[in-house]
Amino acid sequence: MLGQVAVGGGAPVSVQTMAKADPAHVDTIVEQFLMAKRAGCDIGRIAVPDEAAVESIPEIRERTGLPIVADVHFNHRLAVAAAEIGADGLRVNPGNLGGPKNLAAVVEAAAKAGVPIRVGVNAGSMPKLDGEAMEATAENMVSVALEQAKAIEAMGYQAIKVSLKASEIHSMVAACRLFVERSNLPLHLGLTEAGPMLSGSVRSAAALSLLLAEGIGETIRVSLAAPPAEEVRVARTLLIALGLRSGPVVVACPTCGRTKAEVMLVAERVERSLEGDARDLTVAVMGCEVNGPGEARASDLGLAFGSGGTGLLFEKGQVVAKLPNGQLEQALMEKIFQRALEDSDGA
Ligand code: SF4
Repeated sequence: MLGQVAVGGGAPVSVQTMAKADPAHVDTIVEQFLMAKRAGCDIGRIAVPDEAAVESIPEIRERTGLPIVADVHFNHRLAVAAAEIGADGLRVNPGNLGGPKNLAAVVEAAAKAGVPIRVGVNAGSMPKLDGEAMEATAENMVSVALEQAKAIEAMGYQAIKVSLKASEIHSMVAACRLFVERSNLPLHLGLTEAGPMLSGSVRSAAALSLLLAEGIGETIRVSLAAPPAEEVRVARTLLIALGLRSGPVVVACPTCGRTKAEVMLVAERVERSLEGDARDLTVAVMGCEVNGPGEARASDLGLAFGSGGTGLLFEKGQVVAKLPNGQLEQALMEKIFQRALEDSDGA
């Protein structure tokens, strides 16, 4: 468990993001996490480079309601303090904590607080061997992760998660595949330093979907040079597309010369209105009568604009209204809202 979020053991794959602000700016971090939570974030992670960051953890937890993972490097005292003050998880690199005695202190604090430890192995910061950084092959990354996880297990603590991250897709995928052949520990997946919004999303989706489709991965992060909420939107959309999390799907036609309506804008607004929604709901926004009625009919809710200025509103495969194009979006939004009310009444 990471706070209230179950990890592994058949629990749904969860979505994590990381705050992108100086830990001294608690209000900014809270704002980023609240937006990420609205987009469907399950777990928030913050960098903990100093005491002030440790002390911010309870306030960030309380104001966001998210489980908070403390990301600590080099200073084992900060990891101990984070566990003691109420972090829900620790993300450490056991190799840079200053030796087994320091690691033992971190493990003892984590065990006492009942918080899991993520062992993070990153291709960009492999441990040194004979003064040289080890080559980041899949074999070496897995060996390092297993060795570090075993060191924690040998101290009598089992609540461990592992991540094997690289910015190159094939290395990261190969390392994760090899790891699950050798260990049952839960894996956090991420293509590190994936890139800006578009390329980072596509590269992350390519890497993560290869693994998730094989049943590999218990938590994921899409690491973008973009705000945390954007990372979460991409991650959730990926999980919903793969059928690993429930949530809405907006089917929208790509538009062409036949449409007389603002399909792209309407589809975008409909998708935004469903942000973070956990219902399995397919909503179609279609541009004309060529494919429109077919797709809209196959969806839970949908609209098909008409080239003559009048279009159709669909619900559960049936036409429920014929309206001027300009009124269809509002009518669809009302149906979505009404469905939410019915679902909450039935829950
Ligand atoms: S549904 Fe109509 S507007 Fe949309 S792409 Fe197809 S033909 Fe073009």
